Amino acid sequence: MLQLRPNCECCNRELPGDSADAFICSFECTFCAACTTSALKGKCPNCGGELLRRPRRPADKLLKNPASTERVYKPEGCKKRVA
Ligand SMILES: [Zn+2]
Ligand SMILES: [Zn+2]
Repeated sequence: MLQLRPNCECCNRELPGDSADAFICSFECTFCAACTTSALKGKCPNCGGELLRRPRRPADKLLKNPASTERVYKPEGCKKRVA
């Protein structure tokens, strides 16, 4: 099951479990759509993997299987890629 991390690692923006704006790599490094397309160009700065849109978990499922509340914020990795 996906952790559904609550925020973007680059800009710390909120990414709730039912957000259409969240992108993840295979390790679930999590980013918002804006950072994914501009700063990161679709590539995870931590592992080099591709970033794909995170499937949304419907609100009723989030009640039983809540999203992770553990925030990961690593803006350093994102700045490196801004060319
Ligand atoms: Zn972001
Ligand atoms: Zn990654």
